[in-house]
Amino acid sequence: MKKRIYLSILFFFLTISGFSQLVRKDMNVPDIPGYTTLKCDFHIHTVFSDGNVWPTVRVEEAWLLGYDAISITDHLEYQPHKKYIPIQHNASYEIAKPHGDRQDMIVIQGSEITRVMPPGHLNAIFIHDATSIETERIKHMHAAETHRHDYLDSIDQRHQDYLLAIEEAFNQGGFIFWNHPGWAAQAPEGIKIYDVHKDLIKKGWLKGIEVANWNSWYPEAFQWCLDYGLTMLSNSDIHQTEGIYEKSSKVAKRPVTLVFVAEKSVEGIHDALENARTAVWFNEKVIGKEEFLQPLFTRSIDISDSFFKDSKHNRFYNLKNNSDFLFILKRVDSETQIELLPQTTAILSVEPNRNEITFEVENFLVEPNKSLSVKLLFD
Ligand SMILES: [Zn+2]
Ligand SMILES: [Zn+2]
Repeated sequence: MKKRIYLSILFFFLTISGFSQLVRKDMNVPDIPGYTTLKCDFHIHTVFSDGNVWPTVRVEEAWLLGYDAISITDHLEYQPHKKYIPIQHNASYEIAKPHGDRQDMIVIQGSEITRVMPPGHLNAIFIHDATSIETERIKHMHAAETHRHDYLDSIDQRHQDYLLAIEEAFNQGGFIFWNHPGWAAQAPEGIKIYDVHKDLIKKGWLKGIEVANWNSWYPEAFQWCLDYGLTMLSNSDIHQTEGIYEKSSKVAKRPVTLVFVAEKSVEGIHDALENARTAVWFNEKVIGKEEFLQPLFTRSIDISDSFFKDSKHNRFYNLKNNSDFLFILKRVDSETQIELLPQTTAILSVEPNRNEITFEVENFLVEPNKSLSVKLLFD
């Protein structure tokens, strides 16, 4: 009898765990020649700075949405929960990493170095000890029992010790990028790049910029990435739960940094970021260098054989989008526009004696004011 009770209890728990199995929605994005395309978010907060979520939840949220890799980048300098949660700069990584391992989610260690503009906020990822990036001055500030961000800002104007933090992050092998350069709180007169940033770029310490953050994207930052050969990033900077982010940011899609890796690993992602092999996926837009956007388009689209010819000898083709990208295609030699939604097929008629048609993919940007141009071939 006892045994039967044990068995039914066991069965009960098995059933419960069976019901709680989560299912991930994959993001369908093609690989490009020579590289696998990973979907990443390198700017995320938890309760270990000013976020309101435990680190393991960040792994689960990202997994459910189809991301391959995340970096949790809690502020080193801003710890509003410190009355209840001790300051432990490595904690979010230490908690999230083993959870990520169980879910095939790459978790990269990171921190946000938080200063007034310039240089503003910088993320350092692929570091191995966040605690030693915190400077002595910031340690004193934490000890001074202030929770106010503006206190940090006002003392920062007198002490430019951010260089110590950046140098330490760089010496740890960190990849450092500039966050939300157009954030209104730090760019009240509009977005601009400072000499401080140019010096950091010259030194080889600053290697990327967020072209998209939260619910904004910055055309100027896109241009700077092209001009200075920097890596383009698109990150959520999420502080609340995923559900609240979705409602409050009003973006159709949480930002994604597309990373083109030779190998799916922490090292593979690091190599891709160091070599600027990324693109920005933000809302309906994909932003990046032509060499990456062109194959993303080509490998997303299938053109069928002609399945019909009308009385005027126009041939009809299926144009199928196998990806989760939207493609707004505008024919350059006419007013024809096709809005090819994710995972849909459009029918295209091609005039007699025509073998190719050039389209602008209006929502794929290779420069701030220039769309990707694609040539479709028909037999
Ligand atoms: Zn920030
Ligand atoms: Zn942040």
